[in-house]
Amino acid sequence: MTPPTDPNCLFCKIIAKQIPSTIRYESDHVFAFDDIHPKAPTHVLICPKAHHPTFLETPADVLTTLNGEVQAIAKQLGFADRGFRLVINNGRESGQEVFHLHYHFLAGKPLGGF
Ligand code: AMP
Ligand code: ZN
Repeated sequence: MTPPTDPNCLFCKIIAKQIPSTIRYESDHVFAFDDIHPKAPTHVLICPKAHHPTFLETPADVLTTLNGEVQAIAKQLGFADRGFRLVINNGRESGQEVFHLHYHFLAGKPLGGF
């Protein structure tokens, strides 16, 4: 089955390489690239290639695949033995601006509390 895409979605365009990004990881199902406005020395956005607007709308099997690859990405980025933070914004009230599911992977400095 062809995964869902949205021709008007910024992250679908980045995943299709129609818009450039600094790619950190790519597999059949997952794409990761540097956030253009980093909030930490390492700030990578990790997305399923399939377009799902929010966390809540994403099928559980897609999340399971994504989570496994997030573990691999954390190690690949050099954070197997260091701390990092994963953030998911779900919906406008959370601050979500791009409606294609993504995890913010933040690391590389003490991140402090909320
Ligand atoms: P969110 O607010 O959770 O939807 O996060 C969207 C993130 O996308 C923000 O942290 C932006 O800095 C980031 N962003 C927006 N445009 C781009 C782009 N062209 N390349 C990389 N990151 C982007
Ligand atoms: Zn998309």
